[in-house]
Amino acid sequence: MSSPSRESIAAQFLSTYGRAPAVVARAPGRVEFIGNHTDYNGGAVLGAAIDRYVWVAAAPNAQGRLRLFSVGGKSVLELPSDPGARITGPDSWANYPLGVWRSLKDFGLPQPASFDLLVDSDLPPGAGLSSSAALELATALALLKLAGKADLPADRLAALGRHAENQYVGVPCGILDQGTSAFGQAGHLVHIDCRGPAFARVPFPANAHLWIFNTREKHALIDGFYATRNQECLDAAKALGVAFLADLTPAQLAAKIGALSPALAKRAKHIVEEHARVRDTVEALRRGDLAAVGRLLTASHRSSQHLFENSTPALDLLVDLLAAHPAVLGARLTGGGFGGAVMALTKDNFTAADAAGIARVHRAAHGREPEMIHLQAADGAMLLG
Ligand code: ADP
Ligand code: MG
Repeated sequence: MSSPSRESIAAQFLSTYGRAPAVVARAPGRVEFIGNHTDYNGGAVLGAAIDRYVWVAAAPNAQGRLRLFSVGGKSVLELPSDPGARITGPDSWANYPLGVWRSLKDFGLPQPASFDLLVDSDLPPGAGLSSSAALELATALALLKLAGKADLPADRLAALGRHAENQYVGVPCGILDQGTSAFGQAGHLVHIDCRGPAFARVPFPANAHLWIFNTREKHALIDGFYATRNQECLDAAKALGVAFLADLTPAQLAAKIGALSPALAKRAKHIVEEHARVRDTVEALRRGDLAAVGRLLTASHRSSQHLFENSTPALDLLVDLLAAHPAVLGARLTGGGFGGAVMALTKDNFTAADAAGIARVHRAAHGREPEMIHLQAADGAMLLG
């Protein structure tokens, strides 16, 4: 996938709509660094905004219409006005920008009456890197600028993108994706206390690298697995007499765990210990102890594998191979699980050839090569002018 630039986006806009854009905005994708299924359990999560982005260029439309185009798509979608109902079929991606446009009104923010909009991206959609939140945030900044408002606090921007996805796309996502894309800063991770939500930036050393190994496998029953885990966590919290599992320390849980069935005990132990690992990771990052961060990441994976049971043999093999590599600090499944991707934290001397070697072993065992992406912690959503 080639990387777009401010100039290439403006050229695409010109060839699509016959004039220059009035504004270009950009928002990054993200990886879940640590904090697995902690968000809906009242816990914390650490995200990394990454140097892969969605760009949105826009200009007012003189005919009062809404026109939308995504580079690589077949044709411009042209709407006389707000379509109201959710769009289905090949143009359904337009629900994201249209949802953002409607959300501006819901948030009492100015809304441009009409627009021509163009999207370009080097973020693979559906790879667990949150292209959807990046599209929402870049759209929000571009449309707000068209309406004469050049700035929005990052927490409002994140809430607006999440509202658009929840209400107008119909995906019940938490705040990790939009919060990380809004608050990202080069050389930092984003800490989110999902209860507030409250956001903070945590320094991330320049000599540490992120690698994604995307298996591209997705379990057919994935929605059912999510719903089951969600319900198990609610049931465990209720049986333990707390509002959220993250209300308990590991010691408090150990004292009460006999009240739970074996399955619920495993789920609760994962969430409570994972929430503690997020805190320990922040502390290790603050002291610059990357070896400790790496151990916490791999411990998070082992907990997903054995306690939360949301891993797969393909993800486990990748983590085993990575964890045994001398230039890798730690590795874990990232995102919901039941397929998807593994993230590795590596030292400077982990090379593309090392990654390719791991991919070869994975292909021999599981039939296909994972998609490999080398990433750095990047700046959050911004206007490019
Ligand atoms: P993820 O956010 O993990 O990438 P999602 O399923 O949440 O996966 O969001 C992917 C969807 O976002 C795509 O199916 C598409 O509708 C929309 N999207 C993402 N990137 C683009 C793009 N460059 N152009 C148009 N739509 C996009
Ligand atoms: Mg998404």
